Amino acid sequence: MSDTLLQHIDRLKTQRPVAKPALEAYRELAILMEEADSRIGPVDIDARHNAIKSEEGFPLFSRDDLPLDFSSASRMLTQFLKHFASVERDDQEGMKKALAAVTSDPEWGGNLFEAILKQDEAAQEQMARSVGLDSGTLRFLSEVALKPALQSLRSAVSDSIPREGWDAGYCPLCGSQPDMAFFTKTGERYLHCGLCGEEWRFTRIKCPFCNSEDQESLGYFEAQEEEGFRVYFCRSCSRYIKTVDKRVFEEVAPLELESLATLHLDVLAHEQGFK
Ligand SMILES: [Zn+2]
Ligand SMILES: [Zn+2]
Repeated sequence: MSDTLLQHIDRLKTQRPVAKPALEAYRELAILMEEADSRIGPVDIDARHNAIKSEEGFPLFSRDDLPLDFSSASRMLTQFLKHFASVERDDQEGMKKALAAVTSDPEWGGNLFEAILKQDEAAQEQMARSVGLDSGTLRFLSEVALKPALQSLRSAVSDSIPREGWDAGYCPLCGSQPDMAFFTKTGERYLHCGLCGEEWRFTRIKCPFCNSEDQESLGYFEAQEEEGFRVYFCRSCSRYIKTVDKRVFEEVAPLELESLATLHLDVLAHEQGFK
């Protein structure tokens, strides 16, 4: 599984040299995840509560009440910080301070994960500042550190995810917004959850963020000479979503990797005023 992930990373590195630094950092994290102690505590879910929720058309959980094993995620984050504190980089001092914080204060990791899940940017900023790290870097490492716990939750509740008839612009498992979309070989559009990785089918011509179906305000652009990738945007809410067309490629990597490998498209979208 992880070997395949590393193969995808290596293939993307040669295909998209511009994304090489981001992919190389992710490769280091992927290797650490493979080596780490991946014992994750049992998932504690209240089935009855969830059954009621899904009947009402809510996602199975919200970001605030995900039953995740923060202690396993903290151990993962500690491994990441240990690694980056030991290699020469501009923010090596910040990595050392964050490592000291997560190992000396048993609540530090949990507080950070909570701030991320609640999307409390002020709290994230404050914690990053307290150790002298860039807030985006700390969030990225924390989100990757949460992945094994999220994967374990996803497989534990897979049968209860309200996939049938789900046509919302947010994830049926955790309620997060999508970070990417893709077209299947048969041309259906799916959205990919930016947090837990769940994928769900969504109407083709509709904005996932504001539900606008107004063809005048929906559109897309492509980067030059890059068939298969499009940025779909919505002028009603100024949001955009990167989209990979699986009909064009023989092989598509997991979308969290495709997302990292297409950061230049985010730059183009931001330049055009989309967020
Ligand atoms: Zn999700
Ligand atoms: Zn919109």
